[in-house]
Amino acid sequence: MAEISWELFERQVESCAMCPLHNGIHHKVPGQGDRTAPLMLIGEGPGEREDLEGLAFVGAAGQLLTRMLAAIGLPRDRVYICNIVKCRPPFNRNPEPEEMAACMLHLRMQVALVRPRVIVLLGGTAAKATLDPNLHITRARGQWTERKGIWMMPTYHPSFLLRDESRKREAWEDMQSLKRKLTELGLYPDLYGGETP
Ligand code: SF4
Repeated sequence: MAEISWELFERQVESCAMCPLHNGIHHKVPGQGDRTAPLMLIGEGPGEREDLEGLAFVGAAGQLLTRMLAAIGLPRDRVYICNIVKCRPPFNRNPEPEEMAACMLHLRMQVALVRPRVIVLLGGTAAKATLDPNLHITRARGQWTERKGIWMMPTYHPSFLLRDESRKREAWEDMQSLKRKLTELGLYPDLYGGETP
């Protein structure tokens, strides 16, 4: 296998036609943020605004995510954010299992390049694709799993929280759990300089 690099990753994503999702999109949305971040957040796929701008989590859900991170003292530009699929599914439908499987090649390369210590999976689709296809997000949220030295926790997708505000309390508990995990790993507050409310 060729040595991996960000340049190779970008070329690979830009030229990718491994599943039908690239048809009709405006931009691929590979992900962005601190490429050396110990914390990586992975969502499901780009929405309309993300497709137009070529950036992950820039719409209303992205703004909520920024506020959630800020609430535990994490500046958004110090984490790395991406999605399972890099092309917007039509009409914001869930990506099909075959589409997620095809795009996993890119995600694996991203994880290998960023080398995070902690991954937060945003929403059931991202958690199923990554941890367990039979997982139920309402039961699995907030629970930590270690895989190959990386701690992973599913939580609700911010777009779900925008639709169902009653889940925000659980999401807040998950963010507190994230802060505790970062602290346990010696990444907080030193790395993030966090002054938490
Ligand atoms: S979603 Fe992923 S696998 Fe499918 S075409 Fe886009 S980049 Fe390639």
